[in-house]
Amino acid sequence: MANLADRVKTLTPSTTLAITAKANELKAQGVDIIGLGAGEPDYNTPDHILQAAYQSMMDGKTKYTPAGGLPALKQAIIDKLQKDQNLTYQANEVMVGVGAKHVLYTLFQVLLNEGDEVIIPIPYWVSYPEQVKLAQGVPVYIEATASQQYKISPQQLREAITDRTKAIVLNTPSNPTGMIYSKEELAEIAEVCREFDILIVSDEIYEKLIYGDVSHTSIAELSEDAKQRTLIINGVSKSHSMTGWRIGYAAGDSDLIKAMTDLASHSTSNPTTTSQYAAIEAYTGPQDAVEEMRQAFESRLEAIFPKVEAIPGFQVIRPQGAFYLLPEVSEAAQKTGYDSVDDFVTALLTEANVAVIPGSGFGAHSTIRLSYATSLEALTEAVERIHQFVTSKW
Ligand code: PLP
Repeated sequence: MANLADRVKTLTPSTTLAITAKANELKAQGVDIIGLGAGEPDYNTPDHILQAAYQSMMDGKTKYTPAGGLPALKQAIIDKLQKDQNLTYQANEVMVGVGAKHVLYTLFQVLLNEGDEVIIPIPYWVSYPEQVKLAQGVPVYIEATASQQYKISPQQLREAITDRTKAIVLNTPSNPTGMIYSKEELAEIAEVCREFDILIVSDEIYEKLIYGDVSHTSIAELSEDAKQRTLIINGVSKSHSMTGWRIGYAAGDSDLIKAMTDLASHSTSNPTTTSQYAAIEAYTGPQDAVEEMRQAFESRLEAIFPKVEAIPGFQVIRPQGAFYLLPEVSEAAQKTGYDSVDDFVTALLTEANVAVIPGSGFGAHSTIRLSYATSLEALTEAVERIHQFVTSKW
């Protein structure tokens, strides 16, 4: 029997993957399951990106690259940040990694000493706390409730800061809440971080998926101080439907970027070469597909939101971005006879044949996450099944 390292003994397996595995098991038995667990766009990567990747291979671009990414890809990212955020970075302030997830992992490895604290707002993306713990850091949670639109207040942040606080993770637009921090809200948070000299990790992976009349602001845009203390995390996974290509990046302080690049040089060598050529095309080629996908998500949201809102015992806030709904369902769970939302989710899977993600994985135990990165027909049918399940047991 393997004698595992202490650091993995507390590692929590991804709840998202657990429910997906159970759903797949039922599907294999012939059960007609509709999955609303997806964390990725349901479109193929746009054609022109596929073509660029193919061409790069035919041109013999199949060897190692610099550890932190091809100079041409770094330049494409620098140009994107200048154009979209009006932020100027140099090549030594950008690092390309194997997806935003691995870039974040690398960051925490080079940033944290044992016992260093990282502030993580609840509801959070599942991997932040685990990555902090794997780097021997301590996640410190701030609960952002539905009544505050799932966004933390500067006062909450102030109260959570200690001598050991090294960083805060901000995710806007957020997975799983879909909420977006306004410029004013970000300015208040930036001010507290300046006062206590804290690094801001700004995960902006859903930047391009925003709906209605809101806009995305990177906290780094707000002042020179905010820029200096922010590490922007982003990538092509969600914006260009490229989750499988595994390309993400960080932009910020050159010392951090250098340490992350050095660590990557011993762990990955480099992000997959073909994927880097694909990402160059994603950033420098036509952006029509990005907007088309955004519009498709928005029209699904329009169609599905009122139906989810109408399910008895479900309270849901209209998301402003990403592709998730996060209804509070404890009343529905209780009225249909379940002790916990986790049990309710299991019953939804086995009895209503709909796979959703329990909010416990995001630190938000009274919620479930429904992804609308699936066809409108499947969504409509799934929500209908959930509605019927709840009313039949109420
Ligand atoms: N950050 C958030 C909030 C995410 O939801 C995800 C993916 O689900 C990632 C980062 C990771 O993205 P990538 O595919 O670039 O690793």
